[in-house]
Amino acid sequence: MSQRDYYEVLGVSQTASGPELKKAFKKLAMKYHPDRNPDDPQADKKFKEAAEAYEVLSDADKKSSYDQFGHAGVQGMGGGSGAGFQDFNVGDIFGDIFGDVFGGRGSSRRSARGQDLQYNLDLSLKEAILGIKKTIKIPVNKSCDDCSGSGAKPGSSPIPCGQCNGVGQVRMQQGFFSVQQPCNACRGEGQIIKDHCGTCRGAGVNEETKSLSVSIPAGVDNGDKVRLSGEGSAARGGPAGDLYVAIQVIANDIFERDGRDLYFEAPIPFDIAILGGSINIPGLESKISLKIPAYTQTGKIFRIKGKGASSVRDSRRGDLMCRVVVETPVNLSNAQLKTFKEFAESIESEKHHPIKESFNQSADKFHKE
Ligand SMILES: [Zn+2]
Ligand SMILES: [Zn+2]
Repeated sequence: MSQRDYYEVLGVSQTASGPELKKAFKKLAMKYHPDRNPDDPQADKKFKEAAEAYEVLSDADKKSSYDQFGHAGVQGMGGGSGAGFQDFNVGDIFGDIFGDVFGGRGSSRRSARGQDLQYNLDLSLKEAILGIKKTIKIPVNKSCDDCSGSGAKPGSSPIPCGQCNGVGQVRMQQGFFSVQQPCNACRGEGQIIKDHCGTCRGAGVNEETKSLSVSIPAGVDNGDKVRLSGEGSAARGGPAGDLYVAIQVIANDIFERDGRDLYFEAPIPFDIAILGGSINIPGLESKISLKIPAYTQTGKIFRIKGKGASSVRDSRRGDLMCRVVVETPVNLSNAQLKTFKEFAESIESEKHHPIKESFNQSADKFHKE
């Protein structure tokens, strides 16, 4: 039997590092994974080919032997006829490589656990920061009541699969490798249903719309996920998957959130900017009175401690950051404009506009350079 070069299979060079190998294999395995390509023998073959290549190249001893002697070098390892790989189990690679991707399913029986589901939940900024209880409705596979989820007609029960003796896995010889894979006859379940339940047609589950009350903790932000264990889809003969509620915070007209701090801009009338006074600014819970000192300029930022957002990790509130902008009054009457002109004529630039003066000096210096 001719075999493809392991490096060629993974698409890496001979000097590829451990993480590079892992990445290359992960990419192939995700693509050709049997769960994603049901009943596709070509994908199945490619998946096993990649797994075999990774198994050898990720092991320093096997890799060095393979580099020296090629396929012949690894076939003898572990004592003749590839005995070292005799119990190579695809499931072991799952634990290692797919732990983070598929949530670390330990079971060797396929489709034993129900699907994980995701629900996208829109929240207002206030709801996200202060926390809220929401009722959501999701279509979900629920365990069939009539057959208690077995899929077998009430009164009958599934029988052990004759092909795999109820194990759900069969061992396949692939060249020098023995690879375990799910049994075709029972699709990895280890049992076969002869008389199907009429309600769920043997599926063991029925699709229903489920109403759930979800407590969203205070401090969630865009992209956070709340996991509801066991609230995903049910599966025949196994536990239900999990439901992930993915948070999306709707954009807000006033506030900009940066972690725990909330930024916003507040206009102040020019008389308050000059004389000082109080303005009302929006807080998350209610309005807050903010004292503005006399001679406040545009751009000054006032920090209101403890009125910002919290984090899901702890409830400490960040700060509210209010940047003020002096508003130029508009729609003035002729009389008002006249009064203002008189006042403006009394203003001496150097004394009353030190910022403008200093800016002009810098500009002059710039032109002389
Ligand atoms: Zn079977
Ligand atoms: Zn049923």
